[in-house]
Amino acid sequence: MLAARHAIVESLPAACQVCAAWPTRPVCEACILRFAQPQARCRACAAVLPDDLGLCGACQTRSDIPALQHCVAAVDYAYPWDGLIARFKFRSEPGWAQPFAQLLLQVTQTRQLLQTRPLMVPIPLTAERLGERGYNQAWELVKALHAQCRRHPTALPCDTLATALVRLGETPDQHSLGREARLRNLRGVFAAHPAHAHRLVGRHLLLVDDVTTTGATLQTAAQALLQAGADRVSALVFARTPPSR
Ligand SMILES: [Zn+2]
Ligand SMILES: [Zn+2]
Repeated sequence: MLAARHAIVESLPAACQVCAAWPTRPVCEACILRFAQPQARCRACAAVLPDDLGLCGACQTRSDIPALQHCVAAVDYAYPWDGLIARFKFRSEPGWAQPFAQLLLQVTQTRQLLQTRPLMVPIPLTAERLGERGYNQAWELVKALHAQCRRHPTALPCDTLATALVRLGETPDQHSLGREARLRNLRGVFAAHPAHAHRLVGRHLLLVDDVTTTGATLQTAAQALLQAGADRVSALVFARTPPSR
């Protein structure tokens, strides 16, 4: 399995997959400078902000206290990342976890979160979806982040747990639903794994996923982790869908 995975990582093409510059890493320096500039983002939902204001308008006016209070994203879910994420998820190219993790680690807030010795936890797939795809892209990201943390000059001491959460059901197509409806739909979708729940007690948990849209999935997963005894829950996502205007 390990050998197979290395083969996939190494088989990522040697030309930039955005501008075709060659030879280079899967996304060249020029394209990273152009498309992945770190931006000021809302601390709670990772929406881009005009400057470093802390919270976006929507998060400032929330009446409830969200289960997840800190979310960091590397890029917006837009060109060219949307196409590369589709390859990562749907075209058997888990090797994209490495460059995506690298971009996440370039964000200062990512490194700050990782310095708190969190337990990194992937958003799980249902068993059926995992069977079809053969890998969970969120777990691939966790493993890539963990490996890069260990090599990082400031030694970021995070731990990982693949099976902290179980996904009890598939969520219906959420695209047409508003935030409240999504949260209703997701109720009961996640639960802490009974065999591993004791490892969550009192910990700072860091949920990891490839994309977040309204944050409803992350919030529901965070609720399940807090119910299991986690001290607090934060999230790292590679891409954040820009809020619709
Ligand atoms: Zn390029
Ligand atoms: Zn926000």
